[in-house]
Amino acid sequence: MPTQNPPLRLNFSTRWQYAPAPETAKVEIKPSYDLFIGGKFSPSTEGKTFETVNPATEKPLSQVASATHKDVDRAVKSARNAYDKVWSKMPAKERGKYVYRIARMIQERARELSIIESMDGGKAIRESRDVDIPLVAAHFFYYAGWADKLEYAFPGRAPRALGVCGQIIPWNFPLLMAAWKIAPAIACGNTVVLKPAETTPLTSLKLAEIIQDCDLPPGVVNIITGAGDTGAAIVNHPGIDKIAFTGSTDVGKRIMSAIAGTNKKYTLELGGKAANVIFDDATIDQAVEGIINGIFFNQGHVCCAGSRLLVQESIHDKVIAKLQDRMQTLIVGDPLDKNTDIGAINSKMQLEKINGYLSLAGDEGANVWQTDCELPAKGFFCRPTLFLNCAQSHRVVQEEIFGPVLAVQTFRTPEEAVEKANNTPYGLSGGVWTDKGSKIFKITNAMRAGVVWANTYNKFDPTSPFGGYKESGVGREGGLHGLAAYLRVD
Ligand code: NAP
Ligand code: MG
Repeated sequence: MPTQNPPLRLNFSTRWQYAPAPETAKVEIKPSYDLFIGGKFSPSTEGKTFETVNPATEKPLSQVASATHKDVDRAVKSARNAYDKVWSKMPAKERGKYVYRIARMIQERARELSIIESMDGGKAIRESRDVDIPLVAAHFFYYAGWADKLEYAFPGRAPRALGVCGQIIPWNFPLLMAAWKIAPAIACGNTVVLKPAETTPLTSLKLAEIIQDCDLPPGVVNIITGAGDTGAAIVNHPGIDKIAFTGSTDVGKRIMSAIAGTNKKYTLELGGKAANVIFDDATIDQAVEGIINGIFFNQGHVCCAGSRLLVQESIHDKVIAKLQDRMQTLIVGDPLDKNTDIGAINSKMQLEKINGYLSLAGDEGANVWQTDCELPAKGFFCRPTLFLNCAQSHRVVQEEIFGPVLAVQTFRTPEEAVEKANNTPYGLSGGVWTDKGSKIFKITNAMRAGVVWANTYNKFDPTSPFGGYKESGVGREGGLHGLAAYLRVD
């Protein structure tokens, strides 16, 4: 057997030091924010508030109102009133104009929104500026265009709005998830009550200000902040016609049982544990970039993250050597620095969860490898990490961790790759890297996942449907499918 040359390794002792390149624009974050109900900001009925912090500095950013059951009731009533009296009666073309107006105003205020997103949630400014906020505007533009063309989307099926939608979103893409929810709902003629996650309420509240500036009829969009209890009160409110939830599988299951037996429609976008499969005929350098983008984008706080690497055994050592070298170049630190690749972990709780998995991986027998980058003294940060030599039964292979940590396994045949890829409770996404088109068709068809990328990863577009199989959720968002989720088309 010919001996393989050992992979060429890079020398990082002479690593480049980049001068800081902080984002300097000043943004306005008020010391406190109220609930946005009926087109106006008003305090919580019991005056309760909570604090949102900057996870990169651990400093408080603002004090935010916590909505009680009474506030949820106020918001649902205002949404119903707006639906009955204004929004359901307005010509679709006029409705579309408002949605376009929101899209344009988001573009105009893109820089401010990007900075606040990075401050409140910890993601690198490069990502909030180049990915999140442009996609937010794109979603509003895309669904604005559909508002007066619904009969063409569903010919002969007389599409009608559902009524009042309760929408609950997570902390990993705060404003983007708000856009995924609000844009199709209102374009289809529904009114909404939206609750952002507790750690990232600020960009949703900025969106409320934009909505006010757009003169959207009061009550069409209501944004109320609070914790899980507020979310549960939305789910259980009898005045809600549809629940759209993005979050963990655990809470998704609770929501499903809470609304069982009611007439509420639902879409649930839940967790994932995607396999990124690298065949020996792949272009290795591109695949390594795809692995990096798959797991380290947004600190790995991505439902469709490529958090499991399945690499063909014959190229394992080469891929891992190149991957480790590339990982050593990742800059972890201040989210507002334009050089930063990996920002802060969203919260102390999430960092503790990730650290728990770091020690579990060792206990389970994986080899834990981390880059030797420096971490800031303050804030919640985690080094890019590999769990090498994992087995399919390891919890770090089966459970969603939601951090910059990648579990690595090998396979020998395409059948084994598919078997391992599908063998988790989830089915949200996946990736395949190969030179052969036929292999792409075979593997993507065999993978039980809502989205499978071929020779790329983590690409999003408002025209494309998104959603999961198995415990990754029910229903689809995005594209035409995303319209159907907000209409009666029977
Ligand atoms: P989470 O704990 O399920 O929270 C999601 C939202 O639900 C938050 O606004 C949360 O409020 C609220 N909530 C908590 N308990 C509730 C209850 N009993 N009833 C109603 N609402 C409740 O999830 P997360 O930790 O914020 O987000 C991470 C999860 O989201 C991951 O599992 C990830 O995979 C998933 N995700 C999925 C997609 C997708 O499209 N499939 C996209 C992004 C994220 P609090 O913030 O106050 O807890
Ligand atoms: Mg925060």
